[in-house]
Amino acid sequence: MSWKTYDVVIIGAGIVGSACAAECANEGLTVAIVEAGIIGGGATAAGMGHLTVMDDSEAQFALTRYSQQLWDQMSDALPREVEHDACGTIWVAVDDEEMAEVRRKEKFFAERGVKTEILDAQSLAEAEPNLRPGLAGGLRVPGDSVIYPPCAAQYFVNQSRKKGAKLFLGAPVDKIESSGVRLHDGITISAGLVVNSAGSSSPSLTHGLEVKKRKGHLVITDRYPNFVRHQLVELGYLKSAHSMTAESVAFNVQPRQTGQLLIGSSRQFGVDDSHVDNAIVTRMLERAVEYLPNLGKLSSLRAWTGFRAATPDKLPLIGPHAEHERLYLATGHEGLGITTSLATAKLLVDQIVNRESAIPVTPYLPARMARGAVHV
Ligand SMILES: Cc1cc2nc3c(=O)[nH]c(=O)nc-3n(C[C@H](O)[C@H](O)[C@H](O)COP(=O)(O)OP(=O)(O)OC[C@H]3O[C@@H](n4cnc5c(N)ncnc54)[C@H](O)[C@@H]3O)c2cc1C
Repeated sequence: MSWKTYDVVIIGAGIVGSACAAECANEGLTVAIVEAGIIGGGATAAGMGHLTVMDDSEAQFALTRYSQQLWDQMSDALPREVEHDACGTIWVAVDDEEMAEVRRKEKFFAERGVKTEILDAQSLAEAEPNLRPGLAGGLRVPGDSVIYPPCAAQYFVNQSRKKGAKLFLGAPVDKIESSGVRLHDGITISAGLVVNSAGSSSPSLTHGLEVKKRKGHLVITDRYPNFVRHQLVELGYLKSAHSMTAESVAFNVQPRQTGQLLIGSSRQFGVDDSHVDNAIVTRMLERAVEYLPNLGKLSSLRAWTGFRAATPDKLPLIGPHAEHERLYLATGHEGLGITTSLATAKLLVDQIVNRESAIPVTPYLPARMARGAVHV
């Protein structure tokens, strides 16, 4: 049995798939969205929702910056439940070595038009009184913000449906075929193009994809309004995010509009089960208490896990598959998929309609993997 033919079938209604669906529908393409579970229930529900400009590489900067601008342009249209909050980020430095990194970041961002502010020890303490005394300072990035990602995914799906997109929920795709997708129940959905945006499950549908699961833990507390005011991240976070070792934790705390605190985060390769590992949570909380001693007095409500989709070069795969021209990829966003979802959708649709993009697409093209990048 087969449904009507669509221009595009999007696999996965996480933040990436749903943003791609909205952009495709906006472009006038006919769209089917096929989701195995619920909207935004994968890594999108597990993530922190920190929309942050990053400077690991020029390509990462370009994508995060472009996407952040798209989020800001959309801010007024976002429904209240998306909780877009321009709280800014402070990258916290513990010593002189990390202050040198603060200055390097400040210079990098200044040269590219991103406003930041170097905080000395005293201004850091004034900005965030719950941080422990004796820290060296930090870098405030006022343009960073946070959202509640599952509601953003829901909003993008709603926008797509208003433009005629068809949603198939609870409908796992078993196989991507040359003319569309085959669902687990045997139904096929025909489409001119298929977009694999199934997050960390994308390699199970497209064999040979260089995407690995990277497990993360988060904890949420009860309500403590103004305990912190910015998203606070240790500069050592970069070492942890870069590390390809099996396991790492880093201090990363986010204030929610509800007054709750999201406490992260951990990174683990080679772990496939989703259970909460108490040893990891304990390490994560101990790290957070090193920075925020009073955090130890607060009550936490829940801990959970999610899987980032990691590529060897830490950039997502956006564009046509190197060998199957009717298959597009929008996956591999690791720890930045909430931030970069909107830019991903723009770059994807630009390639579908053969239009130049606002930023160069080459660094994100899946074809680069065929040139030999491998996981360390
Ligand atoms: C602990 C943690 C913290 C994070 N913090 C941040 C942050 O602060 N900022 C940020 O930018 N990013 C963050 N991230 C990363 C971010 O959450 C992800 O990059 C992003 O959610 C990826 O979205 P996605 O749509 O690609 O994947 P997902 O949200 O996983 O969506 C994929 C969807 O595909 C569906 N699917 C899978 N297989 C099939 C199939 N066969 N058929 C149909 N549907 C299928 C799944 O059900 C799922 O809904 C964090 C991640 C973690 C784990």
